[in-house]
Amino acid sequence: MNIHLDLPTVILVYNTSLVAGALSIVHIRRHSCRPQGLGYLAAAYLLLALGSTVAWSGEYAVLPEWLWTHGSLLLGVGGYICFWVGVRQFSGRWRVRWHVMWMLLAAVLVMSVATGFPLQNLTRAGVFHGTAALVLAVCTFDTLRDRHQEPLPSRTLLAALLALSGGIYALRLVYIVTGTAGSDGFAWAFYVQMFCHFGIALAVATLSNERAEVRLELAALTDPLTGTGNRRWLAQRLPLVLPAHSAIAQLDIDRFKQINDRHGHAAGDQVLVAFARCLQEELRSSDLLARVGGEEFVIYLPVVTEAEALAIARRLCEKVAALRIEHDGLPIPVTVSIGLAWVHGADLAAKAWLQKADAALYSAKRAGRNRVVVAAA
Ligand code: GH3
Ligand code: MG
Ligand code: MG
Repeated sequence: MNIHLDLPTVILVYNTSLVAGALSIVHIRRHSCRPQGLGYLAAAYLLLALGSTVAWSGEYAVLPEWLWTHGSLLLGVGGYICFWVGVRQFSGRWRVRWHVMWMLLAAVLVMSVATGFPLQNLTRAGVFHGTAALVLAVCTFDTLRDRHQEPLPSRTLLAALLALSGGIYALRLVYIVTGTAGSDGFAWAFYVQMFCHFGIALAVATLSNERAEVRLELAALTDPLTGTGNRRWLAQRLPLVLPAHSAIAQLDIDRFKQINDRHGHAAGDQVLVAFARCLQEELRSSDLLARVGGEEFVIYLPVVTEAEALAIARRLCEKVAALRIEHDGLPIPVTVSIGLAWVHGADLAAKAWLQKADAALYSAKRAGRNRVVVAAA
């Protein structure tokens, strides 16, 4: 391809891409909840824009040589260190302490003043490209490593753009070291970096949006008091037709209104939290527990025999009765009634089994509470 890229124009557009990237990131930061690292990322973009402006001003002898050489290197290296801190924090897990950042920057400053290496164009370019390639490689690694904790699609896009940007710097570094760097390749490198700056800002925006969606969905499916799933969550997770040899149970705390009346609503809430935690501790991770009403919960046991299901339900009853809950120094006794339906093989919808369990729960209440009643087959 024989496209001539005019270097001053490319650098102007390159700087514009950095400033536009910084503005987009500031915008994302303002509109997202808990935006980790985005301030650093925006600052990094601005430092890099300033660094490239100072470096380019050297061509026109606007600034004394020592100032633009040392200044551009320090801004460039500082920009990428800041970029590293930003991406690590945004990625979610790996924090970098302030003093690490300043120590790295101080080391570069001391070395450059002591040896005067920034005055040599190739060495200065080599150090900058090396830093950028290294930082971007580490950022790519961090972004990919954290996808186990947060497997969102835009994370891969972000990692790919970070890798592309780092790859271009590494390639340029090879040309610089081997003394084969030409101005055409230089312009192309700027051109691709420009694309990466926009791309990274866009990936940051989409990843922030995906995070917000996940948070909203989680909030819509979770009971805020006990942290268990709610009715909507249960409807999503429960099979439409329950498979044979599974069990479903309806649980209802006994005389809960009395607890509220005697000890206050806050004590009632405390009981609900302790009750839910107790059930959660007793159940396997494959079992489902949901709060479907005020003091009503549903449990689904996917693979159990009838005897096992009954034993589990009875154990839950005992564990709840053994709970030691205190409010304002007064003990609050708690018991629960459970209606249990064991799916023996009939092809019934989950709703029908829930109704059977509910009828059994009603029988448990009438029979005196604090007990398990199994629904008739
Ligand atoms: P029973 O043994 O027959 O189940 O009696 P009960 O008093 O538990 O029955 P009922 O269903 O009439 O009472 C439920 C009470 O739960 C009524 C309501 O004020 C209370 N409640 C519902 N949601 C909450 C909540 O989030 N926190 C608190 N503290 N109380 C709640
Ligand atoms: Mg009730
Ligand atoms: Mg009740």
